[in-house]
Amino acid sequence: MKEVIVSKFGGSSMADYEAMTRSAKIAINQNSNIVVVSAVYGVTNLLVELSKKSCDSEWNDIEPLLKEVRNKHERILEKLPSQNELKEKVNKHLEELNTLVKGIFLLKECSARTYDSLLSFGERLSSLIFAEVVKENTEKDTQFFDVRKVLITSDDFNKATPQIDIISKKCDQHLYDAKYGNVLFITQGFIGNSIEGHTTTLGRGGSDYSASLIAEGIGADILQIWTDVAGIATTDPRIVKEAKLIDEITYSEAAELATFGAKILHPTTLSPALRSNIKVFVGSSYEPEAKGTWIKTKVENAPLVRAMAKRTSQTLLTLSTPKMLDAHGFLFDIFKVFNDFKISVDSITTSEISVAVTIDNDVTHNKKFIDELSKLGKVKIENDLSLVSIIGNEINHTPNLARRIFSRLDNINVRMICLGASKHNFCFLVNEKQSDDAIRFLHKEFIS
Ligand code: ADP
Ligand code: ASP
Ligand code: MG
Repeated sequence: MKEVIVSKFGGSSMADYEAMTRSAKIAINQNSNIVVVSAVYGVTNLLVELSKKSCDSEWNDIEPLLKEVRNKHERILEKLPSQNELKEKVNKHLEELNTLVKGIFLLKECSARTYDSLLSFGERLSSLIFAEVVKENTEKDTQFFDVRKVLITSDDFNKATPQIDIISKKCDQHLYDAKYGNVLFITQGFIGNSIEGHTTTLGRGGSDYSASLIAEGIGADILQIWTDVAGIATTDPRIVKEAKLIDEITYSEAAELATFGAKILHPTTLSPALRSNIKVFVGSSYEPEAKGTWIKTKVENAPLVRAMAKRTSQTLLTLSTPKMLDAHGFLFDIFKVFNDFKISVDSITTSEISVAVTIDNDVTHNKKFIDELSKLGKVKIENDLSLVSIIGNEINHTPNLARRIFSRLDNINVRMICLGASKHNFCFLVNEKQSDDAIRFLHKEFIS
């Protein structure tokens, strides 16, 4: 029986008519069952800007942004042979978007729920147009599908949690033909629906995660992530030009890379794939014939250092109090506050009377959270840091590794170090401005 394939195409693969045509041909040649797409390149950023400007700017500053969103889609539509019905649908979406923005502008308020509705237009528009581009390139039965029928989430707007059991049932109900009926479905990444029926999103870059959830939901064999680089490299090629492509990598290594900031994969992409034993391929829609990277359970070699990544916009939050001396339950009290405010911690170190954790920068604007923590001790906050990680194997059992790392970081002040929790990861915190240099030095030492 043919392998069941879910293919995801990111924003750069949806950038214009040519990129969409290239992506459509890949999906057709690969005999994909379901295609999940991101918004047209740059559109989500424009929508984010619209959400901000609508609350604090003049209409004159907002209109050009709306126009830019319209132009990006109309430029693609112009190249599609006469598509009156599609043009009408796209226009209807754009009108609806205008009305929503006008509403935000008048109220000067954009709640988390409204923000998700606003951002959803990116994927809803791109998928609508892309479905037609695919139809133009194949005789095969192709259907546009609204993912909100299956991708049910919590109502934590802006970063909703998928409801796996419901998704699985809904996929059985609605996506049967994609798996068994030889119909190619085109749908949206990034967006979902709360149980109450409100549009949600999975967080920026979340289309990878959507594709993995749908692959799990329909019981796919393969998840393909098509992007603008020919696979996972030893580090972001934008930082180190000579970064090398990796042919195969384990789920654990790839998941560490994603969690610790490698933008190539959304951090939670691999959970559904790993859970459901789905092979993952990462390749370039610009060079579909290139080898790409396979993410698997077992790979042939397990180097000490596979790759490096950075997670930007980190805050180091230190909580100090003498009450910690010889006390028990103190960490419980601290992390209860994090839990109550649904704030996720990336790395932790502790000393006799203090605990230091790294969190995403934006959390520190949450005054109630800081006030609550301050009841337990003195809170100190340092912003604009980056967490640099080295990802590999047996990292916590290899003599000399720390010496090799730090001998390369002579002039870089390291604010915190985390080693020991994972055999796949060694990470440390540096000033954001020095993080690219740190990666370049380490790449030279371990890979180049
Ligand atoms: P898409 O729009 O297809 O989702 P993204 O921009 O989210 O694409 O992710 C692709 C980008 O990820 C690449 O252009 C590259 O700059 C960046 N990247 C970061 N780390 C890596 C890595 N280790 N290997 C390859 N690309 C990486
Ligand atoms: N369009 C969304 C974003 O830019 C989701 C994605 O592309 O994965 O974040
Ligand atoms: Mg992405």
